[in-house]
Amino acid sequence: MKIRIFDTTLRDGEQTPGISLSPDQKLSIAKKLDELGVDAIEAGFPVISDGELKAVKMIADEGLSCDVCGLARANKKDIDAAVDAGLNYIHTFIATSDIHLEYKLKITRDQALAKAIEAVEYGKSRGLQVEFSAEDATRTDREFLKKVFGEVAKAGADRIDIPDTVGYSTPEYMAEITKDAINATNLPVSIHCHNDFGLAVANALSGIRSGAQCAHVTINGIGERAGNASLEEFVMALKCLPYDQKYETGIKSELLYDTSKFVSKIVGIQVQPNKAIVGDNAFGHESGIHTHGILNNPLTYEPISPELVGRKRWLQVGKHAGIHGMNAMLGEYGIKPTDEQAKQILDKIKILGDQGKQVTDVELLSIASDILGEKGIKRIVQLTGFSVSTGIGTMPYAFIRLNIDGNDFVGTDYGVGPVDAALNAIQKITGKISEVKIKDYGLASISGGSNALCEVTIRVEDAQGNNVSAKSVGEDIVTTSVRAVIDGLNRIMLKKMLKERQLS
Ligand code: MN
Repeated sequence: MKIRIFDTTLRDGEQTPGISLSPDQKLSIAKKLDELGVDAIEAGFPVISDGELKAVKMIADEGLSCDVCGLARANKKDIDAAVDAGLNYIHTFIATSDIHLEYKLKITRDQALAKAIEAVEYGKSRGLQVEFSAEDATRTDREFLKKVFGEVAKAGADRIDIPDTVGYSTPEYMAEITKDAINATNLPVSIHCHNDFGLAVANALSGIRSGAQCAHVTINGIGERAGNASLEEFVMALKCLPYDQKYETGIKSELLYDTSKFVSKIVGIQVQPNKAIVGDNAFGHESGIHTHGILNNPLTYEPISPELVGRKRWLQVGKHAGIHGMNAMLGEYGIKPTDEQAKQILDKIKILGDQGKQVTDVELLSIASDILGEKGIKRIVQLTGFSVSTGIGTMPYAFIRLNIDGNDFVGTDYGVGPVDAALNAIQKITGKISEVKIKDYGLASISGGSNALCEVTIRVEDAQGNNVSAKSVGEDIVTTSVRAVIDGLNRIMLKKMLKERQLS
């Protein structure tokens, strides 16, 4: 059975506290969603601002293959704004729960019903496809909800949506009211679930199993408060979990990771590392038992193959590591220690792990080279000197001294800020030697306060297009940035060198 994916990243997702997008940014996300294969996009809420109307109009005019929808309250002004934005499809809503009627709208149930009917009739009279939501449906009196849905269906609504506006439903109750809505209307039913109790995707799946044929979802689950049902989780659950019925969507799952990254970057909200499907750790392994299993057959500790969602698995060594995982990582660099050497390397890694240190590829290779007595795989780029000056009325300026394979190099440069100046100075040196470029730079604060820890992630690329990422955590933004870049440089240069060694 084909399930329709209605993406509301650009409407409910944009209502996430702290997110505000320009029309161009919204259009770029809309194009990305269309490529991903969503069936419909809720592009925005045209009546709220001139910029929003413009953004929705740009998206509506783009000629995307998916449907483009706009949000409208149950009144003529909002519906007219949707028409002005060039839409032929609206999502109109009015609250139906007593708490919303009494404290927000200050109208009776009968008045709300009348407004709902009027809005649907008006939308149809303007030639629109109309999807109707009874806001706060899951806290609405069940009999009244059935009545509202029945009446708007008679008034000509094309689709019905059940919003779990404050994430208050359970999967069991969602199943019940989905059946109610289908029986009352005989129309296609959507569900719109929020994640206040972490049940958004479970509730959405329950609605689908009870006959709903569409879910409102967002990329990375962004949305008001705790967010909405996440598109990637919902789609992959339908695709991969053992339900009694087969469900399909039009989503090209191998684009999910890329889309998640794209949206995260534009909206400025990082995905938590342990997030399902798209989090950094979703396909990462450190524990020895797990890496051993993974190396024998990935399905021992991965429910699905990472390639299915456009990702790669990664292994890391640390205090939980085992010999198999470590040897597999060294093997990627063409290093094959003896059993005794492997044990010695692992012991050193565990000592570092017990000190609370993260062991990167470069450190692993450096330890391995010590034990194997090979000079060739020493840490090849070393930071031997560094200073930066910044202030008001002066250009930020950095001095960097690196030792690369025993030779000293000095680089100096200006920048828009101290980090930029330092990175420019490093690139001045490396550009001469190996044409390594810094492609991405990300900075996040981990804890609060002015002595907060910061986390820097960078991606470097060499002339052959090899990519390597590196991460560093520290208290000083500039020093931590420089460390991350040096680590990235080491990784990419080591990778290249060891590849060449394997070939020769
Ligand atoms: Mn919502």
